[in-house]
Amino acid sequence: MKVIIVGGVAGGASCAARLRRLDEKVEILMVERGPYVSYANCGLPYHIGGVIEKEQSLLVASEKTFREQFAIDCRTRCEVVGVSPEKKTVELKNHATGEVTTERYDKLVLSPGAASVRPPLPGIDLPGIFQVRTVPDARAIREWIEKGSLFLSGMNSYSGFQTVRPKTRAVVVGGGFIGLETAENLVHRGFDVTLVEMLDQILAPLDQEMARIVEGYVVRHGIRLALNDGVAEFKQTANGSLEVLTKSGKAYPADIVIIALGVRPETSLAKMAGLEIGERGGIRVDEQMRTSNPDIFAVGDAVEVKDFVTGQWSLIALAGPANRQGRIAADVIAGRDSRFRGTQGTSIIGLFGAAAAWTGASEKTLNRVGDKDFEKIYLYPNSHAGYYPGARPIAMKVIFRKSDGRLLGAQALGEDNVDKRISALAVALQMGGTIYDLEEAELCYAPQFGSAKDPVNFAGMVAADVLRGDMPISHWDSAGKGFLLDVREPAELAVEHAPGAVNIPLGQLRARLGELPRDREIHVICRSGGRAYYATRILLQNGFKARTLSGGMLSRYHALLLVN
Ligand SMILES: Cc1cc2nc3c(=O)[nH]c(=O)nc-3n(C[C@H](O)[C@H](O)[C@H](O)COP(=O)(O)OP(=O)(O)OC[C@H]3O[C@@H](n4cnc5c(N)ncnc54)[C@H](O)[C@@H]3O)c2cc1C
Repeated sequence: MKVIIVGGVAGGASCAARLRRLDEKVEILMVERGPYVSYANCGLPYHIGGVIEKEQSLLVASEKTFREQFAIDCRTRCEVVGVSPEKKTVELKNHATGEVTTERYDKLVLSPGAASVRPPLPGIDLPGIFQVRTVPDARAIREWIEKGSLFLSGMNSYSGFQTVRPKTRAVVVGGGFIGLETAENLVHRGFDVTLVEMLDQILAPLDQEMARIVEGYVVRHGIRLALNDGVAEFKQTANGSLEVLTKSGKAYPADIVIIALGVRPETSLAKMAGLEIGERGGIRVDEQMRTSNPDIFAVGDAVEVKDFVTGQWSLIALAGPANRQGRIAADVIAGRDSRFRGTQGTSIIGLFGAAAAWTGASEKTLNRVGDKDFEKIYLYPNSHAGYYPGARPIAMKVIFRKSDGRLLGAQALGEDNVDKRISALAVALQMGGTIYDLEEAELCYAPQFGSAKDPVNFAGMVAADVLRGDMPISHWDSAGKGFLLDVREPAELAVEHAPGAVNIPLGQLRARLGELPRDREIHVICRSGGRAYYATRILLQNGFKARTLSGGMLSRYHALLLVN
């Protein structure tokens, strides 16, 4: 059997290596149109910033490795330019020689990735405007930055001498992962960075109130955000630098511009082969990564996947799913019954020492698909035992099914150990776990790592209290109609208070129940929800209608949480 794999990075390379491990006899040809296979594109922003100094470090495995260790015919600078499913052949163009040859396959695997979105805006091809997708892209950006002090672009006149103005102003267009990671790295390189984003928030998968925390954090670390504004045009100024003009009429000067507007599945070969393309524009595959042609498989950023929570088709450009799908395609080709479970979009981004991570559905996704059977909680546990030095708060939002407690999604932000909490929640979610499972999850604990009630357990306990009726909750958007009771100490109110709230500190509550209305719903607040929960229990057991306002003052002002 001969298998041809198109694309030699995440999905393609893992498919090739897995297939060889499963079958010593199969003939494998892996073709990659770029100069490198199996490179770490996830590391590119950090190479631009100098954290990963050597380009070589990004090259995880070479063409030679594939040939020698895996006996795979691996060809770089070789592009599949044609495919004929009837003849079961592909046409390969060797970019070194220009020669085009035809190769026959028994099974074809497409892992061509996704192309950066590059809208046809005036001036988009001007020098100094880059994308971050490949090793050569990162190299070009580094060279452009380093040339800043040597070349003529950016020359200005000072005291009669021609001095060279170093490149100092960057505009990043797009507030997704790649835009933000690159913006952070440009700040580290001394740039004055403006990030322009058309949406009214960065990191679109996050719910807006959670994204606001990240926005506050990156602004405090030197990124200027221009939200709700799209780029209209790029211009070159008289001194050779750039200007980014936005739809709202603003002009941002720049010495370098990074376009990070997201990606679009690479489907040209699939279309050439007449394969079914799905409603989101990706290649349609089944659970075994088989396309509408049983001899052609497709994996990675190019395919549509079923959202694990909503069951809807979605596009998820992430390295983990691409690798797993490559492995599954190899398994199936080798005769095994492997299946992809769908994607829950588990992601993390690190920014200036903090991290934002999430898994599963967001509240806005559930609202978009018309799902009303969910509840959410906000909580702010410490990353590890508060008495052990270095604990930092983690802002968490956990979403679960009201009817059966199934975990639907989680978002977390903080400066310490956010990843392990979202990873634990992601596994629970993928296993169909409930918040009751989270209550019982047995996780690592010593004071420097966590708490006896880990944030993951804590999330389960709070959510389970809600569903068991021990702690009815409310949220700020619905609290207005009720009676607002603040059970914090007066000194805390001096720092921040909720307008209209009546203050009875928790310790005085039992003695002052007579001051509270029995005919209105009482929404109880404290700093983060703990004391409000105790107060809610007292009130409920004394016949009041009470709810804990989830997340308390912190869910109102969470942006203050991460202030250094
Ligand atoms: C800057 C950056 C940072 C990222 N950071 C993260 C991260 O932190 N975490 C995360 O989960 N994901 C991250 N990703 C996304 C992740 O890298 C992708 O989801 C993953 O690489 C997709 O794998 P793939 O095999 O589908 O495509 P790719 O890895 O993009 O590989 C596709 C390859 O196919 C080749 N190709 C296309 N057409 C042809 C053809 N006709 N003939 C021959 N070759 C062809 C392309 O040249 C390309 O090299 C990042 C991506 C980028 C660009």
